[in-house]
Amino acid sequence: MVRTLDQLELSQRKYVKDAACGSKNPRLFDTDRHKGESEARMADRIVRAKAVCNTCPVVAECFADARANHYEHGIWGGLTPLERGIIPRKRSGRRNRAKV
Ligand code: SF4
Repeated sequence: MVRTLDQLELSQRKYVKDAACGSKNPRLFDTDRHKGESEARMADRIVRAKAVCNTCPVVAECFADARANHYEHGIWGGLTPLERGIIPRKRSGRRNRAKV
């Protein structure tokens, strides 16, 4: 599932302009399994997303944003929701995650 963030909210986050994921497909950073995606492929995708985060100059700001705003879905600051101490609730519908 695509992680959710309102486009207006994003434009107000100063760190976004320096984000390493700015040119990446936002779906890479999903932490829910895509339709037809195996567990192994999802795990590989998350590894690739974290590799992008590992090169990101604003990883601390991204992590702080996710923690402050309790983002329940997606990789933020190089971590999954569980790694950030969050247990994601099930979503009722699909929403698009704006590009970071
Ligand atoms: S740390 Fe955040 S801003 Fe940086 S690449 Fe990862 S998700 Fe994007």
